[in-house]
Amino acid sequence: MTPVSPSRDWTKQTGRIWANLRRHDRNPVITLPELRQWLFDRRWRQTMLWQCAYCRKVLALPDVSLDHWNPRSRGGQSTKENLVECCGVCNRLKGPLNEVQAHDFFMWYGTLDAIAQQHVRKQGAKPAFRYIRERENRRV
Ligand SMILES: [Zn+2]
Repeated sequence: MTPVSPSRDWTKQTGRIWANLRRHDRNPVITLPELRQWLFDRRWRQTMLWQCAYCRKVLALPDVSLDHWNPRSRGGQSTKENLVECCGVCNRLKGPLNEVQAHDFFMWYGTLDAIAQQHVRKQGAKPAFRYIRERENRRV
């Protein structure tokens, strides 16, 4: 484990990410020191940059948001294994999708042109809900 070198920015920005997490999960399994270490270990190629797990966009720490890979609404917990760093856009887009659905959804999203992607992004989590509905209807 590489020790985290504390700087004022690091403390402030990781504190903000922690506060956001606490807003969604009042009793996270992961602790603040663990979250800081986890973030540090997941930085992109020894830089102080991260990469969105879904669209691969490179992110500075203030733009990093945490997604629950298995959503909270489906019992997913705030553990090192279930947290994923991503951009705010993808976090909103993924919404309630579980990992299999999210994989399909982002594959589909990746096939859209820039204008269609922009249209989908404007709708927040709605396309993800619609996607679940359509998939479940197809199964019936
Ligand atoms: Zn993204």
